[in-house]
Amino acid sequence: MADNVVLQNVKTVDGTSIDIVIKNKKIIDIASPGTATGEKVIDYKSKVYVSSGWIDMHVHAFLEFDPYGDNIDEIGYKSGVTTIIDAGSTGADRIHDLVANAKKSKTNVCAFLNISRIGLKRVDELSDLSLLNKKELMRAFEESKDFIVGLKARISSSVVGENNVEPLKIARAFSKETDLPLMVHIGSGPPDINDVLKLLEKNDIITHFLNGKSNNLFDYEGKPLSNFLKAIDRGVHLDVGHGNASFSFKTAEQAKEHGIHFNTISTDIYRKNRLYGPVYNMANVLNKFLYLGYSLKEIIDAITVRAAAWLNKPELGRIARGDIANLTLFSVEDEPIDLIDSEGEKRVADQRIKVKGVVVNGEYNEC
Ligand code: ZN
Ligand code: ZN
Repeated sequence: MADNVVLQNVKTVDGTSIDIVIKNKKIIDIASPGTATGEKVIDYKSKVYVSSGWIDMHVHAFLEFDPYGDNIDEIGYKSGVTTIIDAGSTGADRIHDLVANAKKSKTNVCAFLNISRIGLKRVDELSDLSLLNKKELMRAFEESKDFIVGLKARISSSVVGENNVEPLKIARAFSKETDLPLMVHIGSGPPDINDVLKLLEKNDIITHFLNGKSNNLFDYEGKPLSNFLKAIDRGVHLDVGHGNASFSFKTAEQAKEHGIHFNTISTDIYRKNRLYGPVYNMANVLNKFLYLGYSLKEIIDAITVRAAAWLNKPELGRIARGDIANLTLFSVEDEPIDLIDSEGEKRVADQRIKVKGVVVNGEYNEC
């Protein structure tokens, strides 16, 4: 690899054209367009955007588990995402294996620790309360503190069985003990969504917030539930978590109509929905928000600045001299594309985002 890589004539989502110089893994210069020199110069001719490396807040990156597992670099840098946050695929029993896999990969990885010690080894992981083992959870947390960004609780009927909202109450107690926020998956009831919402606090994340199920965050007229609005006021963070079953165009339109804005856009990607849809990759999920009428800046901010801010790692959400280079290069093409949501509803968009390249921890890769 060339010692000194110049990404020439790239533009930010604010519309500024720049050259970026990378050396020894770091951004060493940000120069006026067309002025920087180096051993390897890639001229993007002002047709390509650059942002800080994309961050996906909800993925399933533990290869060993099925169906909710995948290869870290396939869902990471190869699709333009330089940082992935595993959303509770593993609990206390296996998170050390996820840490080991992450060390062997190029993509940056963090994780939510599943409150159930078995994680997604079984997909009803909260149906047996004895699996919510505090001693094991604390041990795993102490061992992998740098890796764990929060706790994951999947609070929907097929996961909790007969336990209703009890696993979430236990999660709340674990959160107090560790000082880690919760990422809560919502879906079909019981529990009733109102009982879930009342237990959420500032910096907790609701993932799947645009799901189209009957127990979702909007009433029969499409208006946001009052407990949902109260949770937003308390500082609860809204994450998309598209997945197989959790993104509905209709719900997304209701949210937009009522001014309810996503904080982060994430894929909930794993093997099956990557290969066969409706997720495929981050760019495809972003296309849906472009179609809905959000600006490119709002969309890209959700997977850079806003995600980085929640993670308390602002350097991951900016392009600045001296930082380790994590960058995503992409274009917006005037090209029609069929978009399908989790309900099987199809929309045809006239624009699409295409990933052109990625810099992961200083290493340039064409996509
Ligand atoms: Zn989920
Ligand atoms: Zn998930």
